Amino acid sequence: MPLHEACGVVGIIRRTPVLTDLEIALRALQHRGQESAGITMFDGKHETHKGMGLVSSVFSEMNNGFGKGNSGIGHVRYSTAGGSTIRNAQPVLLETESGEFSLAHNGTISNHKEIRKMVDEETLKSDTDSEIVLKIISQKIENGMNTVDAIRETMKILVGSYSITMMHDDKMYAFRDPLGIKPLAAGCFDDGYIIASESSAMDTLGASFDRDIQPGEIVEMDADGITSHGIDDTERKAFCMFEYVYFARADAKMDGILAYSVRHRLGQQLWKEHPAEADIVIAVPDSGTAFALGYSEASEIPYREGFIKNRYVGRSFIQPDDIKRKKTVNEKMNPVGDLLDGKRVVVVDDSVVRGNTSRKIVSRLREAGAKEVHFRVGCPPIISPCYLGIDMPTREEFVATGKEVEDIRAEIGADSMGYVSISGLVDCIGKGEKQLCLGCIDEHYPVPIEGEKLRE
Ligand code: SF4
Repeated sequence: MPLHEACGVVGIIRRTPVLTDLEIALRALQHRGQESAGITMFDGKHETHKGMGLVSSVFSEMNNGFGKGNSGIGHVRYSTAGGSTIRNAQPVLLETESGEFSLAHNGTISNHKEIRKMVDEETLKSDTDSEIVLKIISQKIENGMNTVDAIRETMKILVGSYSITMMHDDKMYAFRDPLGIKPLAAGCFDDGYIIASESSAMDTLGASFDRDIQPGEIVEMDADGITSHGIDDTERKAFCMFEYVYFARADAKMDGILAYSVRHRLGQQLWKEHPAEADIVIAVPDSGTAFALGYSEASEIPYREGFIKNRYVGRSFIQPDDIKRKKTVNEKMNPVGDLLDGKRVVVVDDSVVRGNTSRKIVSRLREAGAKEVHFRVGCPPIISPCYLGIDMPTREEFVATGKEVEDIRAEIGADSMGYVSISGLVDCIGKGEKQLCLGCIDEHYPVPIEGEKLRE
């Protein structure tokens, strides 16, 4: 089974060496994947270094002499349990008669079974759908197409989500699926250009963020500029709502909308939909902070930092197995007893997936002396898997599947519980329902998925 992954990608081309820029960009995208990291540089030929772990550890072990080129692409990744292996780390590489290729992919190709038949399976070196995409593109080039046409023709047969950076010999390309499910942004330096999953990578590097790569767009990039090779102009788009709610950094601007502002508005919306009589509002740090501030401002209930986070423990959601996840939840935050003792507390989180964190949070707040705990969630109940780039493989894993909110409240032990509504979420994002993927919260997907309903 191909691996369902959510990742971060980058491509940079300048008039000076870009290895350090690529490392910095990948560190800025580290929240999108912590299991492996890799960079391919072009310095007359493609040279790649990749490894398991965080960007800082993978590149601290780097061989001398790697990475003198002025262009390169990079990738950070997380995967399902069992798929966390170096053979699946990206960029994916390919050497053919028609040149060298490297590709970094964020997303999941949902018709992977069909497209797999188009390549010689014996030659595949990984379990990833990304390698199949690269093989198909290279086959078309070997059959005489130019690179842009080969990408365009390949996009016509792909179903699913993909935001991709790619090098063919010394040329760099980026493209995004026609529904624009995963983000991809373009920016510039004074001597070159950058494409990255999130605009935060540009901010960190001091590059300017120019625009989003449009859904269905293919771009070609060199140190003189970015050339667009057409855009899919169908009205229907399907940007992943979960990028705004949780996955992207709060400072990322995606399709013109800042993730932080969406989260703040969702907090205000939560107050409108689920008010609570309380003494303080606190966040589940850090991802709940903007929501909690919105709730506090709308309700005029003071905001306090009720939890202090251990910044050296990773995100629980993207740990590959449940034992690691539970351990991480225990370690990662500590309640501030003096602020909580005897108080009626509203605690706001961005989303509830498995419920492990929520249960633990409520019990820790009670241990710290909270008199009442009112749980508020900035994302509607997640009840269905994601097949388009975020690893949540089975319905059984979600605490909300088949349950009323009251059952979930009892299960996590809160005094009251409230999720923002789907219409509230759509309003707060501000893109309109026809522009969003809501598959994991309304069970209707923007592309055909076996056994699931298609959003018309
Ligand atoms: S199913 Fe959910 S997580 Fe997956 S792309 Fe759609 S909105 Fe995002």
